[in-house]
Amino acid sequence: MIIDAHVHLPTYSSLRSFQEKKERLLHEMQKNGVGKCIIIADSWPDTEIGSTAECMSLFPKDNSDGVYVVGGISPDVDFDDQLELIRRGIEQKALVGIKLFPGHEKFFLTDRRLDPVYDLAVETGTPVLFHSGWDCSQFGEVEVAIETAKRYPDLRLVCCHCWYPLIHSTVFALPYPNIFFDLSSVADEPERWEQVGRSVRELIDSVPDRVMFGSDAFGCSMEQHIQFVKDLGLSKETEDKIFAENAKMIYSL
Ligand SMILES: [Zn+2]
Repeated sequence: MIIDAHVHLPTYSSLRSFQEKKERLLHEMQKNGVGKCIIIADSWPDTEIGSTAECMSLFPKDNSDGVYVVGGISPDVDFDDQLELIRRGIEQKALVGIKLFPGHEKFFLTDRRLDPVYDLAVETGTPVLFHSGWDCSQFGEVEVAIETAKRYPDLRLVCCHCWYPLIHSTVFALPYPNIFFDLSSVADEPERWEQVGRSVRELIDSVPDRVMFGSDAFGCSMEQHIQFVKDLGLSKETEDKIFAENAKMIYSL
């Protein structure tokens, strides 16, 4: 079974309601043999991919449809209310993680306003995911991730996108066992697969228990990302870890 540890609701204009978006996601999972996925909510209200409250209400917390929810939060909007919502979501087992979007938003991962987020994550054993790479990458770059991981050794910190396109940066994070990686969006440019594949292979060979499959669907292709991982030529045991076992462990699914 494949677990896609990083998806969002689709934003196609043909899909008018969140219910239609949910059905489109479930269809995409079925089409690609993905048995479970982790859907990441936005950190802002009025968003096409759904806020934390919207994603939570869309997917049953018994996870009967195979979808688990990660709540989004920003230090720049409704912070206290969002944090309270996320705390309740974690307590009710309706959330399996907390996502920060440094780079999409202009704050550093080390911003002290985030202390209550990290405290809650440590207290409840909930992973914190962060956006990395692409544009404005300084806000979530490897140095600030390491600083955060060192400050909170009991925090599980998930680096989404492996600092793409600078996947080589992951090498600096390897000594910190509480930093994990999801492969979302790294296979978005097929013309670079050979080069990206080499870096990802090195990462997986170094820390096979700390890397998870993710696609960043629907911004990126679920099918394409699955093919990318299959093309890496991993052993069956390692492929199982990347496609499912590591996500089960890291998110306590
Ligand atoms: Zn994403």
